[in-house]
Amino acid sequence: MIMLKKLVMATNNANKLSETREILAPLGIEVLSQREAGADVEPEENGSTFAENAMIKAKAVYDIVKLPVIADDSGLCVDALDGAPGIYSARFAPKGEECAKLLEAMKDIPDESRRAYFECSIAFKDGNETKTVSGACIGKIGYESKGTNGFGYDPVFVYGDRTLAEMSAEEKNKISHRAAALKNLYDYLNERYCD
Ligand code: IMP
Repeated sequence: MIMLKKLVMATNNANKLSETREILAPLGIEVLSQREAGADVEPEENGSTFAENAMIKAKAVYDIVKLPVIADDSGLCVDALDGAPGIYSARFAPKGEECAKLLEAMKDIPDESRRAYFECSIAFKDGNETKTVSGACIGKIGYESKGTNGFGYDPVFVYGDRTLAEMSAEEKNKISHRAAALKNLYDYLNERYCD
């Protein structure tokens, strides 16, 4: 059994780091930020899937730190828009304008065709292998922005009878695409690297 004591996460985002640390804590794995590990890179994410982009980030950081690395990539896929904005979610509109732009694009779409999902892929890379896991959160696009929590498309993404922006971080972290992917990562690491 190979033991894994330390991982570098290819991000400096405090929310992602704390959620990841919390979920992996029972495995006794320490999670360092990219900055803490001394890797100051921002590779071009030119893959065609979330998984490819996650792998690009994981490899770029691994090449510097030479420690096991995880990297994630995520976005929103809307059925009625043929999966857009998808891997372009961060670039779909200027920051803060993404919800308004999406609502406008969806204004003539009937209720039964408003299904959408968030997807998150996480790549794990060490000296031997690269593995990707993923998770999804399925809901639909609402008709107006609601709620002030979260970020990005949360105010227009309806899960059950509320938007993600109307949920606390704790509630969202139970059902989010990132949480689902992290649980799959937990299972993979637990089986392969931990007692
Ligand atoms: P990244 O993978 O963190 O770079 O996220 C890419 C983009 O997808 C973000 O800029 C957001 O627009 C969107 N996104 C990803 N996850 C979420 C989420 O949990 N809520 C709202 N928007 C999200």
